[in-house]
Amino acid sequence: MIDQGTWAAALGRLQVEMSSGQFAAWLQQSTFVEGGNASLVVGFPNAFAKETVDRNFRPMVKGVVDQIADCDVGLTFVINADGGPVFPSGTGASHPRPPATGHPPVTPVSSQPAPLQPRYTFGNFVAGEGSRLAYAAAKRACEAPGGSCNPLFIHGGVGLGKTHLLRAVGHGIHERYPSLAVRFVTSEDFTHELVTAIRAGNTSAFRARYRSADVLLMDDVQLIAGRESTQQEVFHTFDSLYSAGKQIVLTSDRPPQTIRPLSDRLITRFAWGLVADIQPPDFETRLAILRSKADGVHADVPSPVIELLASSVTDNVRNLEGALTRVLFFAQCNNLKLSVATTEKALRHTGYQASPQPATLLSVTNAVCRHFNVTKEEIAGRSRAARLTRPRHIAMYLMREETNHSLPAIGAELGGRDHTTILHGIRKITRELPKDSKLQVAIDSIRILLQQAAPHLS
Ligand code: ADP
Ligand code: MG
Repeated sequence: MIDQGTWAAALGRLQVEMSSGQFAAWLQQSTFVEGGNASLVVGFPNAFAKETVDRNFRPMVKGVVDQIADCDVGLTFVINADGGPVFPSGTGASHPRPPATGHPPVTPVSSQPAPLQPRYTFGNFVAGEGSRLAYAAAKRACEAPGGSCNPLFIHGGVGLGKTHLLRAVGHGIHERYPSLAVRFVTSEDFTHELVTAIRAGNTSAFRARYRSADVLLMDDVQLIAGRESTQQEVFHTFDSLYSAGKQIVLTSDRPPQTIRPLSDRLITRFAWGLVADIQPPDFETRLAILRSKADGVHADVPSPVIELLASSVTDNVRNLEGALTRVLFFAQCNNLKLSVATTEKALRHTGYQASPQPATLLSVTNAVCRHFNVTKEEIAGRSRAARLTRPRHIAMYLMREETNHSLPAIGAELGGRDHTTILHGIRKITRELPKDSKLQVAIDSIRILLQQAAPHLS
């Protein structure tokens, strides 16, 4: 029977097989809709995502699902508006205007949907002690753009939900006031666009694009530090929008005063409205976030597992999410029950475990041999048959990545090879890894074998 768990596991594996950009763009927002004995219906938030996956990734998705379900699965893709809100198209004539703010009224601009991902909404943001103010302010900016929370400046460490809140504002404003033009941009993209526009002698179009916005959402604004011309452009954009009563929301990994070098006039302006920070989530909030994420992928995760994860991964939400995904994937791949023991095993490689078992040269050799079904003698031997050189190079790579041994020591383990040969092998794998999904899967599987081979578990 194919169920939500099947799709969750398939997503875990696809995340490994695809580039992270592809995965985030096309599959992250997909949802399980219906399963049968040998059928699966997957929903996508819009026709574009559905068609893109159908055209480009169907064989890969089917391959993974077939493998997990262990049968030939009839796979159907549908548009599933429930999986996440779909932006209304057409005119916004009947929609309310933002409340009056004392600033000049906002002029309607024909709206084109901003590239906002429905994945990041207020609904799936778990506001805890450390993020309550930022959350409330973001909601307020969304309910009354250009009002008391303008500009809104959100700052906090990496992976704590700044981008999530920023996109939630954009998404929320889109829903409430579809006629408003929302511009989401990272400071880096803003800089690139500016540089390109300057080169093309086309800065007026660039300026018009940003100054015609009703809502400007600028992510990671700390990155404009030290960039003179970008700062100037941000300054003029800011003033033009602000004086017209348009909402501005900025995020940064640090408060305005500590972004250096940054012009004084920008520091002042960034702090004009509300500055709200986000602190790392406390234990209770981490529990709530994990429960919400588990529900989101329809996984039934027992409380002790949630608690173990919440107490092991304390630094940020992104890693918390990553650890949960890893555990779900690991359990599904190895056909294990979701338990504390499974969780401990799955986390071993991540550095979140209290006493990780380091891999040894021998354990890497064993794992590589097991994965490729070759012998230790063959790996260490002289034959250059293709079925042996690949595993040999992977062994070199993993010995370097997973142990602290030197190149000569690795060479000695692999049949007395010279350290330059080892370096060559490592470089080859390093070079090919980003482009070769089969290789990525192989290396990931061997790492899982390595974890299982840890001495205190056998
Ligand atoms: P930042 O921009 O601060 O580096 P992100 O907004 O990219 O962090 O968040 C990282 C990941 O953690 C995202 O997947 C986001 O959805 C998730 N996340 C962060 N904070 C929360 C939260 N409070 N509730 C739910 N998910 C969160
Ligand atoms: Mg971010």
